Amino acid sequence: MALHLVYGGTFDPIHNGHLAIACAARDALACTVHLMPTGDPPHRAPPGADGATRATMVALAIDGVPGLVLDRRELERQGRSYTVDTLAELRSEIGPSTPLAWLVGADSLLGLPGWHRWRDLFGLAHLVIAERPGSALDAELPAELAAALQNRWTREAADLQSQPAGRVLRLHQPLSHVSATAIRAQLSAGVPTGGQLPPAVAAFIHEKGLYGAAARAPL
Ligand code: ATP
Repeated sequence: MALHLVYGGTFDPIHNGHLAIACAARDALACTVHLMPTGDPPHRAPPGADGATRATMVALAIDGVPGLVLDRRELERQGRSYTVDTLAELRSEIGPSTPLAWLVGADSLLGLPGWHRWRDLFGLAHLVIAERPGSALDAELPAELAAALQNRWTREAADLQSQPAGRVLRLHQPLSHVSATAIRAQLSAGVPTGGQLPPAVAAFIHEKGLYGAAARAPL
């Protein structure tokens, strides 16, 4: 059965670094990538753009890109969405034997022990780790993370197709230094963002004046 691959993120805004790793995972694993923007944090204003706006930017970014689709489920849920709950919901939809995988950047992997019920993730899905500048996977991982990952690492994409969950694959894609935090700072300072954003996303941001961006500022 085809691997179901989810790429969750704030996407505030989605940028070319996100698109590059989504496409690299799609190609390495020969599957569709489901981009899933996080919902808004309950009881406080979203830090950047709200969920509906972030999802609109994801839709603009992937328009016409084969193998990338938008999954809005975390935006439609009330209250806080934990990854473990989202994966459990997906698991119940696709059944026990369809392979399921969650794509994250290396910086997110290092923070995994802080995630709600993080050890349960491995029973629900595979992890696909995209390398990110500044987050060295080769450096020593925190002991509890290293122990949890031991015996799960694989270099073979086929291992993610032949088992439903529990393996960890390192994605070797060209490194991208693009960062949403840096892009937001550039937009609010009126600094051109160059080729970091998909053109339709950059145009939308300027049209709506998101992140303090000036209308019709240089892209
Ligand atoms: P920031 O740039 O402020 O750290 P972010 O882009 O990492 O924000 P998210 O939108 O939540 O924030 O990122 C979604 C996922 O994409 C995360 O797992 C993150 O690690 C990964 N990611 C984002 N940018 C890159 C990149 N340039 N290379 C590899 N992974 C990335």
